[in-house]
Amino acid sequence: ETASRYAVFGHPVAHSLSPRIHQTFARQFGIALEYETIDVAPDDFANAVRDFFAGGGAGANVTVPHKHAALALADTHSEAAARSGAANVLTPQADGGLAAHNNDGAGMVRDLTERHRLDLRGHDTLLLGAGGAAQGVAWALLDAGVDTLTIVNRSAERAEALADRLGEPARAHARYWNDLASIGSFDLIVNATSAGVQGQALDLPFAIVGARALCYDLSYGQAATPFLSWARAAGARFALDGLGMLVETAADSFALWHGKRPDADPVYDALRADGV
Ligand code: NDP
Repeated sequence: ETASRYAVFGHPVAHSLSPRIHQTFARQFGIALEYETIDVAPDDFANAVRDFFAGGGAGANVTVPHKHAALALADTHSEAAARSGAANVLTPQADGGLAAHNNDGAGMVRDLTERHRLDLRGHDTLLLGAGGAAQGVAWALLDAGVDTLTIVNRSAERAEALADRLGEPARAHARYWNDLASIGSFDLIVNATSAGVQGQALDLPFAIVGARALCYDLSYGQAATPFLSWARAAGARFALDGLGMLVETAADSFALWHGKRPDADPVYDALRADGV
């Protein structure tokens, strides 16, 4: 019997950790699978996805810059994908259609609340960024019980659009980046920008970091270093990168496809031991 085929679509995607993570999960259950990276430009994404599933693909993850396109081309979607306006998981259905799901928010919340045993309830939260990842985590943070969610983005209109979509004006609203100097402090600051991935540092005042603040960067490895160094210098209680989120979202995808939830901790520890 041939191994079932999985893939992550992105652009670029060659350095994705997803193949390694899924292969390690598969070994926990003695499952044989193929998991490849498929680098495809936006114009070719829809055709590449159709080819992959027509050729027997059993599931796909989707990363930058295809998450919106993934939701658009799917036939059905989960509530999480709809609320995110983007999808990072595509699964073929018995009727030949494709189902879209988004587990970025669930993965981040599970990393914070279960791996790091942090209680997000009551936190005044600042979300930096309004791109695909920010859309995925914003509503999940509200569901996890943060008190308020202030969204700031380089392009202010995207922050406003995201706040509008969340539909909870009493708790979630957009502010301008320039307001940060006088906005007060936060209990939780989430960096969902791709600045670090692009080797850029954000210009952030120390004053936004509350006395016992938790700072979280969705990126991991070297990309997270500028933000986490800033957070530590500002006196944050916790400064965490997004490796745990990555592993949890992968575990969630694996559970959806294989019907069994893998143990994410050994994979997380092994990646850390390798210096990620
Ligand atoms: P997008 O391209 O959709 O969005 C990028 C965001 O970053 C936008 O809000 C953009 O602002 C902002 N941005 C980019 N450069 C700068 C800068 N120099 N200064 C300020 N803001 C900037 O990317 P995603 O939302 O998909 O991904 C964001 C990050 O999250 C990436 O680093 C990605 O690796 C990480 N991620 C991690 C995951 C995990 O599992 N750990 C899962 C998903 C994402 P503007 O709108 O003005 O362009």
